[in-house]
Amino acid sequence: MGKTSKDKRDIYYRKAKEEGWRARSAFKLLQIDSECHIFDGVSKAVDLCAAPGSWSQVLARKLNENYKKALEKGPAPKPKIIAVDLQAMAPLEGVVQLQGDITNSSTAEQIIAHFDNSRADLVVCDGAPDVTGLHDMDIFIQSQLLLAALNIATYILKPGGTFVAKIFRAKDVSLLYAQLRIFFPYVYCTKPSSSRNSSIEAFVVCKDYSQPEGYEPNMLNPWMMEESWDFEKLTGVNRTIVPFVVCGDLNQPDSDMSYPLNYDGKEYKYHEPVQAPIAPPYAEALLMNRKRAEKSGSTSNQNDIDVDLSSLD
Ligand code: SAM
Repeated sequence: MGKTSKDKRDIYYRKAKEEGWRARSAFKLLQIDSECHIFDGVSKAVDLCAAPGSWSQVLARKLNENYKKALEKGPAPKPKIIAVDLQAMAPLEGVVQLQGDITNSSTAEQIIAHFDNSRADLVVCDGAPDVTGLHDMDIFIQSQLLLAALNIATYILKPGGTFVAKIFRAKDVSLLYAQLRIFFPYVYCTKPSSSRNSSIEAFVVCKDYSQPEGYEPNMLNPWMMEESWDFEKLTGVNRTIVPFVVCGDLNQPDSDMSYPLNYDGKEYKYHEPVQAPIAPPYAEALLMNRKRAEKSGSTSNQNDIDVDLSSLD
């Protein structure tokens, strides 16, 4: 494949290089802003899952523009941007970088510590798992990232603040929307034109952060991974943030797969079903078949399924 083939295939990839963005994702945030005005008045922002850093570049540019405009009117707070990722990121002027896992409470605590007594105007999260190809698993991990980002946001976002996050529009996405609506009266789902149609990714734009009365941010939500977690500790509105509780693990058999009869190393032995169906929906068809066979004198074995047909005779 030639050096230019990706440039030909992907206009945003090409434009990102031309305009000095570290990744084509920059256009997604810029396009979200052109519709939803997420940077208005913003001087403090957190970029979760930030590497290689194109969203941080956009934040740095936009917050500096805001700063210059604000200075024309009088003293203004300097922009503050914190970027976090599992992976190391090349430095960016005006961006404080932390390396860590946002689903890990120690990383969340470091971010919160950076805000000390101040609050962020905007929290963005473009987090995406390394796709495994197991769709349910990828969607689950993506949801975990979104909920981890939301949890961090509940500690540091100022009232009225904005939260933007990548979301996979999969089967149970409405559960996530419902969770977001607990904290934000305005929740939109956007799909910038720079996001490929073939991808299930979209972005939630949540505005006007307002902590529900009685809600206390805590590290129990949404992971509940503390060894000593006790669901009873969560009361009132704190309980309406539905935790994801994983049951089973990847070592368990996959219910959609076929396995050889001796897959677990034991010799296979057939067992009768513990309880045969007593009134299955196909019983009437079996009975008709049996009667037809009896009439014609054939010895069809189609009725050998162990079903009690006496009640239908
Ligand atoms: N917004 C970035 C940009 O514009 O350059 C691109 C982000 S990239 C699509 C997704 C990032 O999520 C990856 O860099 C990955 O390392 C990060 N990520 C995935 N899981 C994470 C986690 N648990 N904690 C922190 N970062 C994570």
